[in-house]
Amino acid sequence: MSKPSTIAIDGPVASGKSTVGRRLARRLGYRFVDTGAMYRALTWEAVRLGIDLEDEAALTRLAENTKIDIESSEGSSATVNGRDVTAELRSEPVERGVSPVSRVAGVRAVLVKKQQAMAEGGKIVMAGRDIGTNVLTGADLKIYLDVSVEEQARRRYNELREMGQDVEYQAILDGLTRRDRIDSSRSANPLRPAADAVRIDTDEMNEDGVVEHIMQMVEKS
Ligand code: C5P
Repeated sequence: MSKPSTIAIDGPVASGKSTVGRRLARRLGYRFVDTGAMYRALTWEAVRLGIDLEDEAALTRLAENTKIDIESSEGSSATVNGRDVTAELRSEPVERGVSPVSRVAGVRAVLVKKQQAMAEGGKIVMAGRDIGTNVLTGADLKIYLDVSVEEQARRRYNELREMGQDVEYQAILDGLTRRDRIDSSRSANPLRPAADAVRIDTDEMNEDGVVEHIMQMVEKS
């Protein structure tokens, strides 16, 4: 067998998929694509334009007519119709709006198509919620990073505290539970492990451990 060229990494919020995916891509000399940044960038544009996040037709039209470019090799940056929205990707309106926007089947159809085009040629690590189950169903290696909701909230809490934000653990836990519930229960490409994904429980593992574990799988194949 040859080294996997297309690697899909899925998992819930704070499972470490973006950091792990980015580090893995760097080690392998592959490109890294953080698909969450695309949904976030589109959500920012919808909020900016005052679009009702329940209006599926308007959101689908927006997805069809908006040029989103992302760059994920060093953190995630994004432009929407040429305007840099990187600083807004983790803003409160985007955090709140991104799951409702991502639930819309028409929005997903547009973004999934772009993601599939980005993966042409291989040598890519792509992270998201539905990469193994929908975007790259033929990926050479599929990883699903699991994490308990309490550990998710703890990671997020520490991260935001370190950034100097005055946040409450309970509020973070509630927000995460809500987002994961919407992502897992939506009818269009819900978050779930692909049948052929390797599941890694990250609760007791740090990012170094997860990266090494996946690298061993890559090198053995
Ligand atoms: O990965 P991240 O937390 O940045 O993703 C933000 C949101 O984008 C998720 O909560 C989910 O609603 C949506 N998303 C998605 N499909 C993907 C990536 C992200 O629905 N492939």
